[in-house]
Amino acid sequence: MLGPPGAGKGTQAERCARAHHVPKISTGDILREAVRAGTELGRAAQAVMDAGRLVSDDVVVAVARERLSREDAAHGFVLDGFPRTVAQAEALDKWIDAKAPLVVVDIDVPEDTLVQRLASRRICGNCGWNAVPGIAACARCGGPLVERSDDGDEVVRERLRVYWRSTQPLVEYYHRRPTFRSVDGDQTTDAVAADIAAAVASVTGGRA
Ligand code: AMP
Repeated sequence: MLGPPGAGKGTQAERCARAHHVPKISTGDILREAVRAGTELGRAAQAVMDAGRLVSDDVVVAVARERLSREDAAHGFVLDGFPRTVAQAEALDKWIDAKAPLVVVDIDVPEDTLVQRLASRRICGNCGWNAVPGIAACARCGGPLVERSDDGDEVVRERLRVYWRSTQPLVEYYHRRPTFRSVDGDQTTDAVAADIAAAVASVTGGRA
């Protein structure tokens, strides 16, 4: 699932994963969990994440590779927030070489909509659950909803700059593949989900 911060990758990746009975794998969620748990990985990543920059390719590639090697990902997965650089995409291509197809969905959203969405986005302060709009407390643990530490104005601007510089080139990397699809992300969540489902079905021939 490709797209800028605030495009709805997390929400859509979760729906898509549920529909296909495969895990959603988010490198951002794994890194935030490491920060909460105070592990070595979390301590190394926190300052970079809080500044809105990208964690190094070596570290993120190792994190993604370890997660993808687990049993529950053996029959498919939805990736959210990985790859984010061409180097990460090249690493991913090497691992899944023999396992086809890698469906690449780019969620396209205008920049002013992204800024508005990021300003109102909330996660659970206890467990990190990504809240859906219009909800007052965490649906998973009942915890309080808080702003993500990297969703403040300054950091959002930096994350969008980083996206255009490092991640948008991935659209160029993937877009000539027959498995690449772009969907309009500036619609209701349900409409985007329907477009993504249709895009995935058009690549896989309707296979789950
Ligand atoms: P996300 O939840 O996907 O918006 O990710 C939050 C933050 O985690 C990003 O701003 C980066 O600092 C870091 N991060 C997550 N995924 C990656 C990745 N694939 N490459 C580099 N940094 C990442």
